[in-house]
Amino acid sequence: MDTETADVIGHDVTTITCVCGNTVSKDGLIQANSEGIPVHNGETTPVPAGLAEWPADEDLYTLCPSCGRVYRDAVIEETGTAPVALRVDVAAGPIAEAIRVHWELSAGT
Ligand SMILES: [Zn+2]
Repeated sequence: MDTETADVIGHDVTTITCVCGNTVSKDGLIQANSEGIPVHNGETTPVPAGLAEWPADEDLYTLCPSCGRVYRDAVIEETGTAPVALRVDVAAGPIAEAIRVHWELSAGT
């Protein structure tokens, strides 16, 4: 099976158009860790329940909350392409919960 690739402009992860059609300005994209779990932005402590800590090595990924495809920021920044790194279940389980927490926090600011 061929690797799916999202559209991205100028090595900029915020310009991703996910394979499913989602963008930052549509349903939004979320910074995540290597397991696809949304990360806390690190501005405040402690890390809210459900979110992952900001990766110590800054190895960030971008999660599409609509379909669960995850892209690796470092690959996009280096190559200007956005192959799907992994897929996670955004409909149920800990990642669904983390997405809910993420939007709740960003709505409150
Ligand atoms: Zn998507």
